[in-house]
Amino acid sequence: MIKVGIPRALLYYQYYPMWKTFFEELGAEVVVSSPTTQTMLSKGSARVVAETCLPVKIFMGHVLSLVRKCDYMFIPTIRSVKRKVYNCSKFLGLPDMTKAVIPESPPILDIDIDINRGKRYLYQAIYQLGRHFSWNPLKVRQASIAAWQIHLNYQQLMSGHGLTPLSAIGRLSSLPPTEPKTSPNHPASNQANIAVVGHPYLLYDEHVNHRLIHRLEQANYRVLTPAMLTTEQLEPATAKLVGRAYWTYEDEVVGAGGHYLESGADGVIGIMTFGCGPDSLMMDTLHRQAVRLKTTPFMSLTLEEHTAEAGVVTRLEAFIDMISRKKREGVETCV
Ligand code: SF4
Repeated sequence: MIKVGIPRALLYYQYYPMWKTFFEELGAEVVVSSPTTQTMLSKGSARVVAETCLPVKIFMGHVLSLVRKCDYMFIPTIRSVKRKVYNCSKFLGLPDMTKAVIPESPPILDIDIDINRGKRYLYQAIYQLGRHFSWNPLKVRQASIAAWQIHLNYQQLMSGHGLTPLSAIGRLSSLPPTEPKTSPNHPASNQANIAVVGHPYLLYDEHVNHRLIHRLEQANYRVLTPAMLTTEQLEPATAKLVGRAYWTYEDEVVGAGGHYLESGADGVIGIMTFGCGPDSLMMDTLHRQAVRLKTTPFMSLTLEEHTAEAGVVTRLEAFIDMISRKKREGVETCV
């Protein structure tokens, strides 16, 4: 059976169930890299120039960990999934960058997704990808339909049932969910809420964020994330702050942050990495909005490969203290 390697990094958190279903429907076996470790990060960093952003360094580490474990490495080029809204340039060059810095990688399976080029271009791209496994276009079509249905189920589990991507992936794989959650639209208790916004590959990679979500839950906070919001909630919030979105992640960062700043969350934490141009602009927008509103404490955390766990914990504890004080005394705060 052909083995397809999928690095557990970058777009994995958004599309893994869909990709897995597509390849398995075509008879392939999917191999996913293990959760991020310091060794992966160090090995990935050693292959790219120092200015490369942290998530891409981690991605390279995951690719390296899959070398010799699979026949193909799946690295799609996802340019745009919404009309005239584009991914960061790092995503566009990812297959080429990987080929250049990891020449020992198995052949890379690339698919160019650009919704602006129309449905015909998209279907052709899917057939070209599927042809590595089957020459039967009907079979490829069936695999893509099954994959799309799983993707819709995955999104519904997150926005409708309040699951994080990791819990939703566990649910779809018939594994017990790791973190039972309730929808933010239907709060089940008077537990305090803290929203954490940022790219999925920062929020759900526990090595990068030093288990931030876990720590908040341990402190008895209910954690709200962008994945728990629907498009109908995200898009108006983005439009309110920046007008029409240009970057794919504006909804997940600016939209989600803007929504939670005004929807009764007790605090909002924005996570970004050093060296990310789009994030520096998006976090600044959120910070300004928090200062303008003066209703919800906001903190932005900038992570990089040398970020110490103790530093994250200290900032988090200070933020939680501030929220508690605000709730007690009604103090207006923003860091
Ligand atoms: S959006 Fe920022 S963090 Fe993400 S890949 Fe692009 S530069 Fe890196």
